[in-house]
Amino acid sequence: MSDPTRRAFLKQTTAAAAALAAGCATPSTAIRLAKRRPLIVSTWGFGKPANELALKVLQEGGSALDAVEQGVRLVESSGNTSVGLSGLPNAAGVVQLDACIMNGPGHQAGSVAGVEGVVHPISAARLVMEKTPHVMLVGPGANWFARQNGLGVRDGQADEASYRAWLARQKKPVPGKGDKPENHDTIALLILDENGDLAGGCSTSGWSGKVPGRVGDSPIIGGGVYVDNAVGAAGATGLGENVMRYCASYQVVENMRHGMSPTEACAEAIRRIARTDPKGMDLAINFIAINKKGEFGAAGTQANFPYSVTTPEFSEVRKGKPLSQATQKEGGNE
Ligand code: ASP
Repeated sequence: MSDPTRRAFLKQTTAAAAALAAGCATPSTAIRLAKRRPLIVSTWGFGKPANELALKVLQEGGSALDAVEQGVRLVESSGNTSVGLSGLPNAAGVVQLDACIMNGPGHQAGSVAGVEGVVHPISAARLVMEKTPHVMLVGPGANWFARQNGLGVRDGQADEASYRAWLARQKKPVPGKGDKPENHDTIALLILDENGDLAGGCSTSGWSGKVPGRVGDSPIIGGGVYVDNAVGAAGATGLGENVMRYCASYQVVENMRHGMSPTEACAEAIRRIARTDPKGMDLAINFIAINKKGEFGAAGTQANFPYSVTTPEFSEVRKGKPLSQATQKEGGNE
């Protein structure tokens, strides 16, 4: 490569890196980003090892769905206090789990809600999608289905000692109107594969100390995750009650359909919810999004909402666009 060509190449890659660092891309960098497939984006810093496993699955010939499932399973068995059976229990001392999965091609979806003792709810969600004529199974029926299909199912009762310790910290034994959870997170993971197809999934133990039977946004298609293979995919984490009332992941994808970048699509969904909601920006909600072109972004009412991005070239934790009452008035700070 001659020197001037090399300089031009370096200039281009530096510009692309700057656009990436901002979590957005200009139309010219989008062309380069389109080559950054596969692209994997997930919620929180704990999504990074999940992304990296998902990338490995893809590189070894697995499908986007295999990669979503394996990535999410990693977090489900990682000891996380908000995902999988290590998640904090509900008010009755039982760990109830929610998960969903969506495949862009064919617009397929599956989910499970309020399952107890299921080691990998994401796998149960995938089996609902692939083996039944249904989209969603809940509670004991979903547990039965998981067992019938050979998935690991244990006792859903939380470990007695840690439950007692957790209960002792609670101000109230059961949450009432207006209360907020002490602990909640979700792994949501989105993939754009080498063929340009999209898939996504999520898994959570939800609101710690929730009223038994409470189901959050995560297993709701269009709430916790939404994938439209022609446009993009979005995922949510945060207070599910503030996501599911607004079909918020669906909104994020629709915003992208109307031309917004992934970051702006997430931010605009939050602003729109805040305009309607009596709580304003006090929502505790965060979103990640990717589009068909290989652009990605995130925004949240939590300052510095961390999300993980992985491609064959890099894997790192970034910060979503922060939204608050103040930044809303300023029209955002991107
Ligand atoms: N969205 C999840 C729920 O409400 C929790 C979270 O992501 O923080 O169940």
